[in-house]
Amino acid sequence: MTHTPQAVTEPTPVVPRPQVPHRDLLQLEVLPDEAQIRADIERLRRERNAVIIAHNYQRPEVQGIADFVGDSLGLSRQAARTDADVIVFAGVHFMAETAAILSPDKTVLLPDLRAGCSLADTVTAQGIRDWKARNPGGLVVTYVNTTADVKAESDYCCTSGNAVQIVASLPADVPVLFAPDRFLAAHVIRETGRAMDVWDGACHVHEAIRPEDVQGQQLAHPDAELLIHPECGCSSRVLGALPDLKLYSTEGMIHRARASSAQEFIVVTETGMVTRLENDVPGKTFIPVSRTACCEYMKMITLENIRDALLNLEPRVTVPADIRERALVPIERMLAIG
Ligand code: SF4
Repeated sequence: MTHTPQAVTEPTPVVPRPQVPHRDLLQLEVLPDEAQIRADIERLRRERNAVIIAHNYQRPEVQGIADFVGDSLGLSRQAARTDADVIVFAGVHFMAETAAILSPDKTVLLPDLRAGCSLADTVTAQGIRDWKARNPGGLVVTYVNTTADVKAESDYCCTSGNAVQIVASLPADVPVLFAPDRFLAAHVIRETGRAMDVWDGACHVHEAIRPEDVQGQQLAHPDAELLIHPECGCSSRVLGALPDLKLYSTEGMIHRARASSAQEFIVVTETGMVTRLENDVPGKTFIPVSRTACCEYMKMITLENIRDALLNLEPRVTVPADIRERALVPIERMLAIG
């Protein structure tokens, strides 16, 4: 049985309330001086010995100039492996923090510090400490979409790709708190049969995807295969109707689209994933479940502010040494498991 451990009363969001974008962010944004901006980025990237890494949900033009595109943890691992002095993280704040945790000797830049995350904002380090005080000996598993402070209070981190494996590896007789995404938690409980306490958090973008959005696209594209991310608000209800349906992490979607004989896919996650799939799996068609499934925080990163970040070596994201040391522990435990 699951229950919500507590309501989070005063989160401290780093960004204003999200706004519905007025433009179609699946289209390339072409700026009047774009050729010059691109040339400046190329020059500065070399001069600074920098690597530009972009999350799957970034704008098409940002994915297009990145050295690596992927999910948050994959990108941080990639960045830690390079000999670059500077990491420009085209993503959101907790991702840049994770890169700083894994690469303490590198300069980590986040081109717009307002790029936060509604899901990460739902959980605080104090909330985790309170749960641990009520559950001595319990284990805390947090999704990688959390701040460094929250990771520092956690026993294990996980991604959407390995959450099932991480939870399945834990001893059966200890209480487990899974935070902060309740939809990913529901997927883990379904797959493992394990009872857990579940934090009542969700991402506003994934939560807003409705089963009707999925059904509408299925009617319009009857031959298309569904690629659904477990964070989605629709996933539990869609699985009720289609119990054999598999859910895919963002990297899992790439592998599935390559391996499947289907030619068309309905992509049930943030719209930027369509760009990644189109680039990595050419020749197949990818249909966004909804063009409004768009993360405003992710789209705050632009070619212009990437150029400015490289020029000024600001804004930087750093993690205090004591938090970094503690936050590294659950990340390393996760990496040891899978
Ligand atoms: S899509 Fe959701 S989980 Fe991802 S960064 Fe945006 S708000 Fe956070």
